[in-house]
Amino acid sequence: MTQHLLILGGTTEASALAKLVASRGLQATFSYAGRVANPKVQPLPTREGGFGGSDGLAQYIRDQNISHVIDATHPFAAQMSWNAFEACRATGVNLTALTRPAWQPVVGDRWQVVPDMAGAVTALRGPAKRVMLALGRLHMNEFALQPQHHYVLRLVDAPDVPPALPNHSVVVARGPFDVAGDTALFQKHNVDVVVCKNAGGTGAAAKIEAARALNLPVIMIDRPKLPERPEVATPDAVLDWVAAHPSTDRGV
Ligand code: NAP
Repeated sequence: MTQHLLILGGTTEASALAKLVASRGLQATFSYAGRVANPKVQPLPTREGGFGGSDGLAQYIRDQNISHVIDATHPFAAQMSWNAFEACRATGVNLTALTRPAWQPVVGDRWQVVPDMAGAVTALRGPAKRVMLALGRLHMNEFALQPQHHYVLRLVDAPDVPPALPNHSVVVARGPFDVAGDTALFQKHNVDVVVCKNAGGTGAAAKIEAARALNLPVIMIDRPKLPERPEVATPDAVLDWVAAHPSTDRGV
């Protein structure tokens, strides 16, 4: 069986892996969820949209003769990671995850760690503030339960439907961001508190460094539970893993 890698993307790290894989001339397909209007163009054949759960992904793996799946999704894309885990188990295909360690607080950080999105909403009980919500489009409306605040929403695309938050500003921008830019953004919008996910990695770290520099509190949402699968930390390590795991003969 020939090698055909499937890269589950949507992160800075996935794009770095795609670049490396393309430069080595390996056969690979890059997959996006299809949530963003104009996703970053990849140097690999690219598909967009859900597979239809773990069964749909298993079928895709069989149909496309995928030999290796690399889960390079965001650490908060837990559903996709569980689907990949189950589909690879069902098909006997090799799976690894390209992951990044969670951020750890350092001296000067003022974090309140909460377990999930609902915890972040609850942590915002109290008087009106100006809140930077660096969470993406999907979860912003959950903060309507704390309507007293002014929310600054940083989104990849302008929202099609107005956010259900009475007071808000929308900033349309795509990462990676830098500390100077995020510091200026927080100052411009008079941000009092930052809400974000513990994404880890460098692509999204600027906001916590900016918060530290401005002595702002951060409500840090902890990572969801992910399946226990092999993990590597760099695109080069993914290629080493591919080399060490010759193609699966699934007998299909
Ligand atoms: P999720 O909740 O784990 O996934 C929901 C569904 O979206 C999955 O069941 C799957 O649909 C589809 N999907 C997700 N990633 C996909 C991919 N790479 N290719 C094809 N289908 C995919 O995911 P999410 O948190 O909404 O994230 C969606 C995408 O945005 C991911 O690619 C992720 O890497 C990226 N992203 C997420 C975050 C975040 O904070 N969650 C931040 C930055 C980037 P089916 O069940 O139909 O297959």
